[in-house]
Amino acid sequence: MGATRFLPLPRASGYPVRPVGDPSGGPDDPGPNRSETTLSDTNEAPAAAQDYPADLMDKLVSLCKRRGFIFQSSEIYGGVGAVYDYGPLGVELKQNVRASWWEEMVHRRDDVEGVDAGILMHPDVWVASGHVEGFTDPLVECRNCHRRFREDLLESDQCPSCGMKGQFTEARQFNLMFKTFMGAVEDSTSVVYLRPETAQGIFVNFRNVLDSSRQKIPFGIAQVGKAFRNEITPGNFTFRTREFEQMEMQFFVEPGTDEEWFETWRDRRVAWVKSLGIREDRLRLHPHGPDELAHYAKDAVDLEYLLPFGWKEFEGIHNRTDFDLTAHQEKSGKKLEYVEAHSGKRFVPSVIETSIGLDRLVLVLLANAYHEEEVEGESRVVLRLHPKLAPIKAAVFPLVKKDGMPEIAREIEEDLRRSMTVFYDESGSIGRRYRRQDEAGTPFCITVDGQTVEDGTVTVRDRDTLEQVRVPAGELRAHLLERLAGADS
Ligand code: ATP
Repeated sequence: MGATRFLPLPRASGYPVRPVGDPSGGPDDPGPNRSETTLSDTNEAPAAAQDYPADLMDKLVSLCKRRGFIFQSSEIYGGVGAVYDYGPLGVELKQNVRASWWEEMVHRRDDVEGVDAGILMHPDVWVASGHVEGFTDPLVECRNCHRRFREDLLESDQCPSCGMKGQFTEARQFNLMFKTFMGAVEDSTSVVYLRPETAQGIFVNFRNVLDSSRQKIPFGIAQVGKAFRNEITPGNFTFRTREFEQMEMQFFVEPGTDEEWFETWRDRRVAWVKSLGIREDRLRLHPHGPDELAHYAKDAVDLEYLLPFGWKEFEGIHNRTDFDLTAHQEKSGKKLEYVEAHSGKRFVPSVIETSIGLDRLVLVLLANAYHEEEVEGESRVVLRLHPKLAPIKAAVFPLVKKDGMPEIAREIEEDLRRSMTVFYDESGSIGRRYRRQDEAGTPFCITVDGQTVEDGTVTVRDRDTLEQVRVPAGELRAHLLERLAGADS
């Protein structure tokens, strides 16, 4: 949940951060790495990871549109603020990231169950959780140009829009929840909210899952779904939007064991994002200091990635204590305690939360994957996405549109489709076809050429090394599956 949202103060800058893997203690630990780097919302990137091509964000936005990853919502009507649509490649990429998270968090574990709760929930859920009262950001308006900003994200008293200094109004608290009405009558008794996070759908189902799954504490509940926040200052493409998807997991533990579980989940989450090929020199942990912690949290750490616009959070891991279950127990009047079978001991479990934005992670992965390079005197743009995340796994090209090559290529395409996503392309020069697939992040390009007609072999070109090998067409599917599996081990 909006860890920074409930702060009595604007997001504190100057908190020490740890590079990933730094074994020093919590935020109060004055260990040797503590003062090496400092964090603010817009801090400068260290030189080592500053190897982004110039104007990367503009290039990404244009590549995403050109290749069908991400479009502005309602574009033909001039767009709608901070909502994006995923095109044919984007939806595949997003799906692969979602599936990889689900596999890691649910399928590979016997102690985590999945749920899919409604977006609309009883309004009291948001009273109990503290969102009605406190899910706010400090809003200021420039008296000169009337643009509105989140005060805690401003760097100075200068308006980023018109440049005037000292023109901001006093901050007022602005609630980020979208409201709508349920039923035919539009009055205060029929107000419902579009959920601003998926976590509450998990808490209110704690009892149901416990009773129906036969899990014992410690265990977790995972959910992926849409969340909505009426952000005051959205921006940076899909980084901060008003509609987005979250992948959250709440792990219920016995109080007293929570600190250990917090560290376990932090380490698991870091290992997972690394397994997606995220560059370690652009990844770091940001433990929250005492005045950054949300009202419900005992400890929190953000995973941050160095985007072209600074170090930015893309996942939060929080020790939420028993705050949520206790609050829902009180508000609903329903017991949300756990009774230990062998001892009869009763307690309200503590919760370790892992919360990652799917869209934000996709943006991180795109920035991480984007490369411009020279190949034999020609420049190419390549998305070095992890093969398991690539929207298209293999592209099939007949070298020319004659001599039986398209027919063979179509047969190969059909065969490969049984096991992976495939793209068939016979238009334009082979070089242009390769470049299109490089931009789409396709790990393998298969070409049917004159030799195929003679000996039944095809070439397989590797996106990253550009190495080409000849493989008998009959063994191609197994060959590619083996290489895809190899990339994932
Ligand atoms: P921020 O400080 O960036 O607003 P937050 O601390 O409020 O984020 P959480 O409430 O902890 O974020 O949400 C967990 C994750 O959900 C974030 O790490 C991020 O990946 C994602 N997320 C939150 N708000 C947005 C948004 N407006 N657009 C896209 N993703 C978001």
